Amino acid sequence: MPKSRGPQIIHIQPEAPAKPALGEPCNGCGLCCLAEPCPVGVILSRRRHGACVALRWLPLQGRYSCGVMSWQGQSAATRILERPLRAWMARMIAAGQGCDAELEAHAPESGSEP
Ligand code: SF4
Ligand code: SF4
Repeated sequence: MPKSRGPQIIHIQPEAPAKPALGEPCNGCGLCCLAEPCPVGVILSRRRHGACVALRWLPLQGRYSCGVMSWQGQSAATRILERPLRAWMARMIAAGQGCDAELEAHAPESGSEP
């Protein structure tokens, strides 16, 4: 559950949907995973702040998605891990329980881009 630690610059797709209110269904805005990784993302990204390396932008759907949740095994042996991995991951990030990120996004002021 990312909470604001003060101003932070993130790079987000301009087409990403606006973050919904707390408790509303997740719309894949990506804000939480761009601000800081979840516990699984910390392991994968090897950092506690900033964008998670597992976050994927889905241009056709116009939303972000967790690469761990959509991971597909390349062999029969690894494919049997897909469902348990997704179920475990869904529990870890409380998927389907609404947005729990206490964050606000503000577009940069005109001319303030680095
Ligand atoms: S949990 Fe909230 S902040 Fe994170 S992607 Fe979903 S809607 Fe966006
Ligand atoms: S939900 Fe997925 S993309 Fe988001 S921080 Fe966790 S591992 Fe990374």
